[in-house]
Amino acid sequence: APEKQPVFDAPVGVRPAVRAVPAYPFDPVQVPTKLDQNENPYDFPEDLKQQAAARMLERPWNRYPDLHADELRDRIAAYEGWEPGGVVVTPGSNVLIKLLTELAGIDQTVLTVDPTFSVYTLEARMLGARLVQVPLRDDFSLPVDALKVQLERQRPGVLYITQPHAPTGHVDDEAAVRELMDAAGDWVVVLDEAYYQYSGTDGRDLIREYPNALSLRTFSKAWGLAGLRAGYALSGSELATNLQKLVPAFNLNILTQAALEVALENPGYVQQRVQEGVAERERILAALADHPTCQALPSRANFFLLRTPDAEVAYRHLVEHGIVTRRQDRLRGLEGCLRVGVGTPAENDALIGAIQALK
Ligand code: PMP
Repeated sequence: APEKQPVFDAPVGVRPAVRAVPAYPFDPVQVPTKLDQNENPYDFPEDLKQQAAARMLERPWNRYPDLHADELRDRIAAYEGWEPGGVVVTPGSNVLIKLLTELAGIDQTVLTVDPTFSVYTLEARMLGARLVQVPLRDDFSLPVDALKVQLERQRPGVLYITQPHAPTGHVDDEAAVRELMDAAGDWVVVLDEAYYQYSGTDGRDLIREYPNALSLRTFSKAWGLAGLRAGYALSGSELATNLQKLVPAFNLNILTQAALEVALENPGYVQQRVQEGVAERERILAALADHPTCQALPSRANFFLLRTPDAEVAYRHLVEHGIVTRRQDRLRGLEGCLRVGVGTPAENDALIGAIQALK
């Protein structure tokens, strides 16, 4: 009998659009100081972890969770001062980006700036949306006029505005964002506010005025709960109701729901950490202000860009000092740049020392 051929890596019927997209580019590096994912350097407080664990133990694990996490949506709504029918929660805001692309991007357009958060463009490509990117201005501000031209010219879809912007940390005047929302017509406008706590801005009042606009928020950054995976959208009911249809049933597991309830009952720890993160960011930027070859660029998020003469050399130098950052030097206008997260004061001291030793 003929021997069976191995089939593990045989070609299969994957859509070309999916095949063409590279796997999410992330290469974990094991070093003591992790400044490469814009995480919170502090874990969830120990006493709250204990409370969350106790609540997890009380619940039945053999039963499916609440279909659409209604209890949790109510609690997020109360925390945000929002209508419960305007909250959609998923395992991370990345999932919402996929669903928003399904909601209004497929067969239509995804419009964003360049550089931008990579998940917007990956999802647009995989789901077959027409992807249009407009270059950021040299000072990293929104190219409002050029975006308005595209809002007019393209078939409507999703417009992503990131405030603070990732990966630059830039925040625009509210007037610029408002001008885009005014021009958006039928477009769904996503205001991604993953880092808003670090900028002192808050798009909720703006979102309220526009039924086609939505704020994306996450528990991964200021809340320090990236490992739980939870993010949510705030919007009017029409957008939320339709977005909710796309959320797979029972999407948020009971353990995450229990821990998030405890977090929302005890949000006091967040503000103090955000204050420290902002103070530390400014301390790092000040300490690097007169560096002979590197430039730490101003930011209003929990990370900043470090412009270096050679990103490869700088990245390796920092890894040798036990610090991992994210290379951004292939992105438009970010030649030589690393994206660096703000860590604990001790981590930041090590970072400053290592960058100062970089010639
Ligand atoms: N939006 C932006 C701008 C981000 O930087 C991130 C995290 N890298 C996310 C959304 C997604 O965060 P999460 O899926 O952890 O909620």
